[in-house]
Amino acid sequence: MNTPSLTRRDFLKNLGAAALLGPVAAACKTEHPAKTHFITLSFDDGFRKSSIKTAEIFEKYNLSACINVIATAHHPDFVLPDEYHDVPVGDFGLWNELQERGHEIMPHGYMHANLKEAPIERAKDLILRCLDYFSRELKGFEPQKAIFNFPYNASSPEIEAWLVEHVKAFRTGYAPINPAPHAGQTRLTCTSHGPGNIDRHLTNEIDNFLALPSGWLIYNTHGLDDEGWGPLSATVLDQLLARLTAIDTVEVIPTGRALAAL
Ligand SMILES: [Zn+2]
Repeated sequence: MNTPSLTRRDFLKNLGAAALLGPVAAACKTEHPAKTHFITLSFDDGFRKSSIKTAEIFEKYNLSACINVIATAHHPDFVLPDEYHDVPVGDFGLWNELQERGHEIMPHGYMHANLKEAPIERAKDLILRCLDYFSRELKGFEPQKAIFNFPYNASSPEIEAWLVEHVKAFRTGYAPINPAPHAGQTRLTCTSHGPGNIDRHLTNEIDNFLALPSGWLIYNTHGLDDEGWGPLSATVLDQLLARLTAIDTVEVIPTGRALAAL
């Protein structure tokens, strides 16, 4: 990842330095301009049909989708946390397949409990169970490289302080813009919208973000079309990725991958 926090002045200075180094270095700079705007669409809840469609749309643009799933949602006795989860979900057969195709699969809780409201020992136990489950079922999963995505984006300072000893970073609510990815970044915040369709809200958030000099927009998406809380239209996702991949300074990237290279 190239110097994500590069200012325009630094960028121009580097361009000047590249020109001094000769045509090859200068051409290199032109072909690989520094990324200034990082965007993560962070898809929660693991609905089967939506996850497959999301992966297909990202693949159309050679991108990796960021899909966060509940450890036990595919169990027959799973208790739905609310009516928005009354949608068929994928299992770890599907998650391993999507991961092999290049997508990022990360934990979104053991049973989608609100870990801010749970007693602290109960919250810790549920997170450890979730990480154990992923370690057993998802090929190559290592908690120390994982991003834990809090159910409901609900966390407390106490559980956050404990969690950073167990995972690489976590995602919670509710501010959409983060500093560009950098070493030691453990607390990621996102925005979200619902329960209705998010097409307009997401597009506005992206427009506002692109008007800033730099940063990392993390937007918590869920299902596509008619699935789950705050769904996004598949056609709008397709159009957004077409638009964003055409901008040289924008990188659409999953959270784990954004931090992995640092
Ligand atoms: Zn969720």
